[in-house]
Amino acid sequence: MLTAEDLSNPERLGFDPTALKAKYREERDKRLRDDGNEQYIEVAGDFSNYVDDPYIDNEIDRDAIVRETEVVVVGGGFGGLLAGARLREAGYEDICVIEKGGDFGGTWYWNRYPGAMCDVESYIYFPLLEEIGYIPSEKYAQAPEILEYSKQIARHFDLYRGALLQTEVTAMNWLEDKRRWLVETNRGDQISARFVAMSNGPLNRPKLPGIPGINDFKGHTFHTSRWDYAYTGGSPAGQLDGLKDKRVGIIGTGATAIQCIPHLGASAAQLYVFQRTPSSVDVRDNRPTDPDWAASLEPGWQQRRMDNFNVLVSGGFEDEDMVADGWTEIFRNLTGILPPEGYEHLPKEHLSKASEIADFQKMEKVRGRVDRIVKDTKTAEALKPYYRQFCKRPCFHDEYLDTYNRSTVELIDTRGHGVERLTEKGVVVDGVEYEVDCLIFATGFEVGTSYTRRSGYDVIGANGTKLSEKWREGAETLHGLHSHDFPNCFFMGLIQNAITPNLPHMLNEQAKLIAYVMGEARSRGATRVEATAEAEAAYCGLIKKLAKLGEKFFAECTPGYYNNEGQASSKNGLTANSYGAGPVEFFKMIDAWRESDDLEGLELR
Ligand code: NDP
Repeated sequence: MLTAEDLSNPERLGFDPTALKAKYREERDKRLRDDGNEQYIEVAGDFSNYVDDPYIDNEIDRDAIVRETEVVVVGGGFGGLLAGARLREAGYEDICVIEKGGDFGGTWYWNRYPGAMCDVESYIYFPLLEEIGYIPSEKYAQAPEILEYSKQIARHFDLYRGALLQTEVTAMNWLEDKRRWLVETNRGDQISARFVAMSNGPLNRPKLPGIPGINDFKGHTFHTSRWDYAYTGGSPAGQLDGLKDKRVGIIGTGATAIQCIPHLGASAAQLYVFQRTPSSVDVRDNRPTDPDWAASLEPGWQQRRMDNFNVLVSGGFEDEDMVADGWTEIFRNLTGILPPEGYEHLPKEHLSKASEIADFQKMEKVRGRVDRIVKDTKTAEALKPYYRQFCKRPCFHDEYLDTYNRSTVELIDTRGHGVERLTEKGVVVDGVEYEVDCLIFATGFEVGTSYTRRSGYDVIGANGTKLSEKWREGAETLHGLHSHDFPNCFFMGLIQNAITPNLPHMLNEQAKLIAYVMGEARSRGATRVEATAEAEAAYCGLIKKLAKLGEKFFAECTPGYYNNEGQASSKNGLTANSYGAGPVEFFKMIDAWRESDDLEGLELR
């Protein structure tokens, strides 16, 4: 335990918190820029080839379909799978999943880059494990297993029946006289649905950096979410033989890059990694599932484990840390700092200081790890992250840092500025041109842009209201799920609900809520369910009020998609638009709403 004096004492702590704070501010300031999300290019027009699907073996050739269905689910990722599963459980037979990819899987369908894996523990990340009767093979699963499991969920809940794969929604119109949605697709389909659940994915649209000369590069390029194995050779397991005589550049060092760089480093003749901000890369410590442990699990174990993790990563206390990994360590540190008999009596400032110290401890450990592994001191220094752990997506990898010890791998640190420009032959940083044969964009996905731009179509609701217009200044919903003027439409994902690192947990709660609301509509004889304008306004007011809780934290963070590229208070930003009291409180609120059984805030007709 540390006293209030200890919390400012460098000798007692082993680091100087005031100096670290100043360093964090300095590093953030280097990265601040006025253009925010405008710095990225939309993957459209000249760039649309970056989103072609390279994974389809057999292109579907079929006639347009005209039919009625009870519910259209847009997206076949975990959100769509969970919605489908919970609706099947509730007895819905007529479900039509529309998915632009060639199969179910969503993010795991698209992200097949070498080394792709999940760094949230698989026993809490894989949804529906008890329903399916499946145990993942490792504590942290590889992408191919997750993709296979996605298909298994679809088979188990019979979601291939009626599904339209390789099909993109192009329009969605509410037909008031029919009390139905007309969903149209790029194959000319016209599906009339009583309900729609939109699960288009929070990170579904790759983005490219708006670098001068981006069209000039004449070598080979692709985005990590459309990995070109025809060019690189190899597989998600690595062995990229096509690169053995190639000079490769990769732009970006986020969670995706951390996982594929070790494979690129092992295979390419030369690898240049262009870094703007280093990721925090902690121990991964993967291990195979212990069959005895798996056999010992009691019914209800998965929900208990998910809840336990959720409480701990939300800053709460639990007697046991079931997952006990790098995500929850910061909270274990906090337990060591605060008095064992309880902390409720401590002043708020003490708690806030203690959590900052726990964060410094954690990040000092992460920075110390860089020094221990990376031999070149200049490279090691450049790889050290100076920001609070949850300012950016924390990463976990046991081979990433060591890759920089290879003589064929060079880190080109742009010191927060990003690459200068592209030329016909390569990438320019600080006036130096790095010639490459292949340039890989590990530059992530659109987050803070408008919802309808990311969906790829507008939604026209009651009274001709366009979603693009209604949400121009930010989303407006009730519980993140319903929006006034958009009856019988459910929005799944990260809009105006709480953010948790374990996204499938959130999606599962949303899917259960959708099944509940649809079930209530059915049993009460209603064909139209809509959030009232008053309830929605009250909920939006609450979101705005709660956003204040995280505002200071994110304003001090280095830019990234968590804080809307340094413009944290923008209404379209991820965190400004979420339930700031955190996922534990959010789930409690939703549970209480459901238990009251009066559908407060919804109008049923
Ligand atoms: P990110 O948005 O996290 O990273 C994009 C990278 O590109 C950043 O390093 C960014 O730098 C860099 N970048 C952007 N523009 C430039 C530029 N002009 N010059 C140089 N660098 C630039 O995308 P990812 O695909 O890595 O990850 C997206 C998300 O996907 C993760 O945050 C995570 O939520 C999820 N993911 C999850 C995994 C899992 O294990 N479950 C694995 C992989 C991804 P800067 O930081 O300075 O902006």
